[in-house]
Amino acid sequence: MSNRTKRYFLPESEIPTHWYNIQADMINKPLLPRNPSTKEEMKPEDLYPIFAKELCHQEFDQTNRWIEIPEEVREMYKYYRSTPLVRAYGLEKALGTTAHIYFKNESVSPMGSHKLNSAIPQAYYCKKEGVTNVTTETGAGQWGASLAYAAKLFGLEAAVYQVKISYEQKPYRRSIMQTYGAQVTPSPSMSTRAGKEILTATPNHQGSLGTAISEAVELATTTPNCKYTLGSVLSHVTLHQTVIGLEAEKQMELAGEYPDVVIACFGGGSNFGGISFPFLRHNILDGKTTRFIAAEPASCPKLTKGEFRYDFGDEAGYTPLLPMYTLGHKFTPANIHAGGLRYHGAGVIVSQLLKDSLIEAVDVDQIEAFDAGTLFARAEGIIPAPESCHAIAAAIREAEKCKETGEEKVILFNLSGHGLIDMTAYDSYFAGNLVNYSYEPEKKD
Ligand SMILES: *Cc1c(COP(=O)(O)O)cnc(C)c1O
Repeated sequence: MSNRTKRYFLPESEIPTHWYNIQADMINKPLLPRNPSTKEEMKPEDLYPIFAKELCHQEFDQTNRWIEIPEEVREMYKYYRSTPLVRAYGLEKALGTTAHIYFKNESVSPMGSHKLNSAIPQAYYCKKEGVTNVTTETGAGQWGASLAYAAKLFGLEAAVYQVKISYEQKPYRRSIMQTYGAQVTPSPSMSTRAGKEILTATPNHQGSLGTAISEAVELATTTPNCKYTLGSVLSHVTLHQTVIGLEAEKQMELAGEYPDVVIACFGGGSNFGGISFPFLRHNILDGKTTRFIAAEPASCPKLTKGEFRYDFGDEAGYTPLLPMYTLGHKFTPANIHAGGLRYHGAGVIVSQLLKDSLIEAVDVDQIEAFDAGTLFARAEGIIPAPESCHAIAAAIREAEKCKETGEEKVILFNLSGHGLIDMTAYDSYFAGNLVNYSYEPEKKD
């Protein structure tokens, strides 16, 4: 038997003590959010009605490179961190590639994805400032489930608006949220003004992350001691996710390698930023030349086909205007799209980094994504989340290039979650019901 190592772990004592704030090291800082009515640049205080105060300050922090992880949060991280860094020997063999492929396995969290990394600190900061209720939106249910659990850990009540089509098609995620005691409402609903307006205009609206965000924000701003939380897109969410890359950095050291390419799927950017930013800091500060690739679905291609401009984060236009790559806040991806990652915009940090060519983006058709996910499952044993399949597809593209050139590049990708509750999407793929949908920009008149 060979003594090669398959998985690299860190002891609990080496769980990061600080999150990495890349804003401090960016030469071109992200532009600031603007107030939708006055168009003025916003300050942390302007977001106090919506988010916990500490999170508002983290959102705008462009100076502190390291932000301490509270002891209570680190205690909760111990329930599933460190997550393993895995050498994908099985996938390398299946591809016959000379590349060395590693993945960070975030699917081992109790919720099956990376989202808990931010749900825990968000619930903690809310509790610490006397908040009693938290609200949010969820699409596939990964974020809602994570928030529901984190809220329970800190004794908060959680109300989750779930995109209606997911509420109907993914009943187990709803049951998971209910298991942790959350109240779950399909969106758009008649329980908010935003929901009523949407349903009046479009009675059979299937819901989108945009409609659900509008409803959750409205609930938070009209209910005392209630704060809104968000599982992606915002800079403080990505900040919390840097535990992924900080651990991976130490684990790659244990493996005696350093990544030439870092890849993650891209919805709003939190798992991509989470694994990338700690390595990107060495490009910025130490002259490393690692490439960073965000893999987005071809049916929702804001990074590869969107425009960089100020846009709303939600469909109804309640949120601040954010400077980002966007397909327009009214954009809803085709229902035929089964792979998640349906959000119309991108986080402001990754948007600025892409504009400055410090990172790259590729789009992946859903059939290629599920081909890659199935190959990965057969080679490595883990059934990936449909979202994660996009990262695997992009990693396979890079590994195939190495096969042609014979290079032994080190490829690291983030396995953002497992797909065990997403088997209806795999069923559609196996039944041949998935088609590739190409994005058409909406006509402007
Ligand atoms: C939410 C989610 C994503 C996309 O969100 P990001 O903020 O872009 O990371 C990707 N993978 C899984 C498993 C998710 O639950």
